[in-house]
This record gives sequence, C-alpha cells and structure tokens, in this order.
Amino acid sequence: MNELADFCKNLKKDFTPKIKNSKEPVKYWSEIDIIEDKPVDAFVIIFRTKGCSWSIKSGCTMCGYFNDSLWKNLDHKDILLQFEKAMEKYNGEKIVKIFNSGSFFDDKEIKSKTRISILNDLINKVDKISVESRPEYITNDKLEEIYDIITPKNFEIGIGLETADDYIREKSINKGFRFSQYQEAANKIKKYGFKIKTYLLLKPPFLTEEEAIFDNIETIKKVRPITDIVSLNPTNIQRNTYVEYLWKRNQYTPPWLWSVMQVLIKSKRIMGKKRIKCDIVGGGSYRGPHNCGKCDSEIISNISNFSINQNIVSFFLFV
Ligand code: SF4
Repeated sequence: MNELADFCKNLKKDFTPKIKNSKEPVKYWSEIDIIEDKPVDAFVIIFRTKGCSWSIKSGCTMCGYFNDSLWKNLDHKDILLQFEKAMEKYNGEKIVKIFNSGSFFDDKEIKSKTRISILNDLINKVDKISVESRPEYITNDKLEEIYDIITPKNFEIGIGLETADDYIREKSINKGFRFSQYQEAANKIKKYGFKIKTYLLLKPPFLTEEEAIFDNIETIKKVRPITDIVSLNPTNIQRNTYVEYLWKRNQYTPPWLWSVMQVLIKSKRIMGKKRIKCDIVGGGSYRGPHNCGKCDSEIISNISNFSINQNIVSFFLFV
C-alpha cells in the first residue's frame, strides 16, 4: 500500500458507524431522468450495506459514503427489508436506480440471491434499472446470472472511473484500479448488451482548476467511444475524508461552478448525441462547488436543466 492509501486507511481507524439499523435504507426519493431522450420519473434507493470493500480497506480521497455504512455483514433478509421499506413509496416510476454506496456486484455488500430477488421483483414494474459497481466485481458469471432475468437494453451499470489518467487516479484519488480494468469491465458489459454509465470526478486534490478541467476533457475524449452516458461529479467536501482533511487546512477548495459549466460545454461538443449529466451535491455552499454566491443558484438550476435537455445555450448567458 502506498502513502496516500495508508493515510486514507488511517483516517478511518477510529471510525464507528453512528447508524446501526440494518433494516433502514440510507435514503429513497423520486427524481426526473431520461429514457430514450424523454424525461420520465425515476425512483432512487440507496441501500445501507456493510460498505464499499475498497473503502473499508483504504478508500477514495473524496468519498464519505462509508459514513452511512454499517461496517458489518448484513443478512440477505436485511437488504430485502430495506428494499420493501423503500418500495412502499414507489409510485410507478419508470426507472429504478439501486445504489448501495459501493458495488452492486460485490457479494460482501449484496449477495447473489439478494440481487436476483430484487431484480425479479422490479423487472415487471419498470422500464429501466440502474446499478453501480467497481470494475473488479463485474465478472462474466455475475453478468450471466442477471442476463437470465432482465432485458439487457434496460439495464445500466455505472462505473466510477473518475479520470482516464492512471497517475491522477492513483496519486490524487487513491481509486485502487487502472483504466485498463475499466475497459475490460466495459467490454464485458457490452458483450451482454447492457448500458454503461461512466462517472467522472471534477477536481480531485492536487490539481489546479485548469488542470482539473483539462483532465475531464481528455477523459471524455477517451471514454466517449466506450460509454453510453457520462455523469460528471464535481467534488464536494464529505465528512471524515482526505479531501476534508486538506480543506480544513486550506489546502483544497471545491471546484468553481464556472469550471463545471466549462467542462459541460466542451464535453457536450465531444459527446455529440451521447448524454452527459451532472449532479451538483452541496452546490453554492462552502463544502460544494460554488462561485461568489450572486449567481450560484441560477447556474445550478441551469446545470440541472442541462442534465435533462442537453442544451448548452443557456450557459452562454454566464460565460
Ligand atoms: S468512491 Fe466508490 S470505490 Fe471509492 S471508496 Fe467510495 S464507494 Fe468505494
């Protein structure tokens, strides 16, 4: 393990999970998303699991998802109870997104029989299902298992690549996998006809604003032929993370909203008909992407609209 990986691990050495209830999901809500270029309702569920295995071993520099995890093994029934509880609020949304602040295909977080039960329940209710996973858990066996249940074109797997640059992914993000692993996982996903969503991080630590924009654009050029959609995630300051450690010592600031707009304008030109979306977490606050405050809410609202309509024209009112 390198120095940064050790540091990320040590930051969590005294961590004790505050929430103990294994039958309660982290969150569930309804939002708008897109199927075949049309806005539709989507239902999002975030399961509370043991936690991302990489996070327990060391963890990414910006990721505070472990704060919501239990750090202990859960029973198959616990996740199903969480699913039932969330589904009480399900209201016929066409998309269901199953997130678990880790990897849907990691058996330590969600067992095979749990995955199958959930997908079997959803398949006749929804038009599209989205999940997320690190590439090492995306194996032919696991894809084969779900291929028997679901329609491939309606199943999307998101991978948090963050950047196509292996040096930045290792030295700034401590992601723990290489670009080639993302490519291999993407090839397997494509072989089964499923869709790929690629998450990119705007402004990991140690990059200037300009370097971060450049890194996103170069990454988008590389992933465009591979991915079906890109989701841009500007860094926000999450609790008990390395990024928070730097931020508290004035050694890191979240990206400007100007930078987010610049990346979206340039990326859309590269992506062409393929979609790029951006969810701003903590936008306008000190812990999230922000400008001076005057135009923050207007820009954030334009970014949300762009994620739906893909129209960059409204950004030119600001740049
Ligand atoms: S960003 Fe993803 S891979 Fe990294 S620690 Fe968080 S959940 Fe795990």
